[in-house]
Amino acid sequence: MLPQSITLASANVNKAREFEALLGGIRVEAMPPGFRLPDETGSSFHENARLKAMAVRDQYIARATALDGRVPWVMADDSGIEVAALAGAPGIFSARYAGENATDVDNVNKLLQALEGKDDRRARFVCEIVVISPGGEELHASGAMEGSIAGKPRGGFGFGYDPVFIPEGYTLTVSELSADEKNRISHRARAALDLLGELRGGKSS
Ligand code: IMP
Repeated sequence: MLPQSITLASANVNKAREFEALLGGIRVEAMPPGFRLPDETGSSFHENARLKAMAVRDQYIARATALDGRVPWVMADDSGIEVAALAGAPGIFSARYAGENATDVDNVNKLLQALEGKDDRRARFVCEIVVISPGGEELHASGAMEGSIAGKPRGGFGFGYDPVFIPEGYTLTVSELSADEKNRISHRARAALDLLGELRGGKSS
């Protein structure tokens, strides 16, 4: 049985909407105001997703009286880009590859510089999801989008490394695709599909 709703370990309402569209039928809510996310100190996408999911669940448990004892399903994701010629970097450091306050443009420029003169431009986006049921059961799902890094940024849509990522089987970068097309093939879409399988196959409490 699928949960009716899940709280996403993120304050980002747009991310919640994106997952809601991908998880057909399950309501996905951003975490309540006042909730905080932990530092991402894990050494993998999975560990970071788990840290976030656990932290939000713990905050619900701490406030359980105020919330009528209700501990909802909680879900967290962590994602990034792994580049083959860079031994998987930037990986879990994707958001801060060019420094703590780096912009998307800074990160993309650093990546293009790191790949200068390299023939191997293979890369993949990875998304790991951890879900914790009200009873404390943990589920894990993941998805990847394989591709390669373009010579220079192209296109206007999207964020992060989208302007330099060419999905396998395409000649356009993700920034040159429509939102619908990205949502069909993205690492997040595939992880969400994997999660639906886990939720259908697993126990529900
Ligand atoms: P988050 O886990 O969704 O916060 O993503 C971490 C970082 O990975 C982002 O700041 C981006 O740099 C990169 N990233 C993750 N997903 C995407 C994507 O779909 N397109 C482009 N960059 C992404």
